[in-house]
Amino acid sequence: MSTIDPHTRETMIRIERICKRYGTQLALDNVDLTIGAGETFGLLGPNGAGKSTLIGLLATLKRPDSGRISIGGHDVLRDRDRVRQQIGLVFQENNLDRELTARQNLDFQARLHRLDNPSAAVAAMLRRLELEAHADRPAEEFSGGMRRRLIIGRALLSAPRVLLLDEPTTGLDPAIRHALWSLIHEASEGGCTIILTTHYVEEAETLCDRVALMQRGRIVDCGAPAALCERHAKHKLEDVVLALNAGG
Ligand code: ADP
Ligand code: MG
Repeated sequence: MSTIDPHTRETMIRIERICKRYGTQLALDNVDLTIGAGETFGLLGPNGAGKSTLIGLLATLKRPDSGRISIGGHDVLRDRDRVRQQIGLVFQENNLDRELTARQNLDFQARLHRLDNPSAAVAAMLRRLELEAHADRPAEEFSGGMRRRLIIGRALLSAPRVLLLDEPTTGLDPAIRHALWSLIHEASEGGCTIILTTHYVEEAETLCDRVALMQRGRIVDCGAPAALCERHAKHKLEDVVLALNAGG
């Protein structure tokens, strides 16, 4: 969670009246969101809520049926390349090259982004990830937590203004999740705008300045975790989510 006053932030991401269908299935139903520079923003919802679809649209990998999205003032459809230069993306699935070492995976990314001094940038990132001792082992020998760290590090290598994380910690045990939270928190402290999806309420509550609660393609409520609790007269965000899921 960043410490910037939400009232003085510039807008980094503007999502306006977005609809997205797959065949007859409406995956996103008129979604509106404005996210400030430096904000850590959570998309919280059960499977099928539309979280990954929204990340795919922000990442310029999917096209909306209607509505507009801009990132850093650039339209995701018209200025796709500009948008891509500004974002780091972590997919829901692990997509490392498992035969390459940690260093080689990062090096590939560093060269893709034409970093000035790729070897130094990669060495610095391996240190930051606390993976120096494992740098020259193939990723397939890594534990789930190490792989996840490497994937997030790879997305951060180009110092993106916006980091998109789709379920960064799903399926990992709590100690490993906490280590990843530190990494995400550090990126936020460095000024990165972060959008993450999760179905862990605690994760959203810990990391996010604001959270959008999603259900069946709609945002049913949005706000700071404490404000959401107050609005729904609950002590914990978990209880807000449970009440909304129960239709209450
Ligand atoms: P979440 O990430 O919240 O689980 P998704 O964005 O993956 O949700 O999916 C939203 C809805 O769209 C779901 O009902 C899902 O089945 C459907 N969906 C997602 N991707 C596709 C696709 N490529 N083709 C058809 N339906 C899809
Ligand atoms: Mg998903």
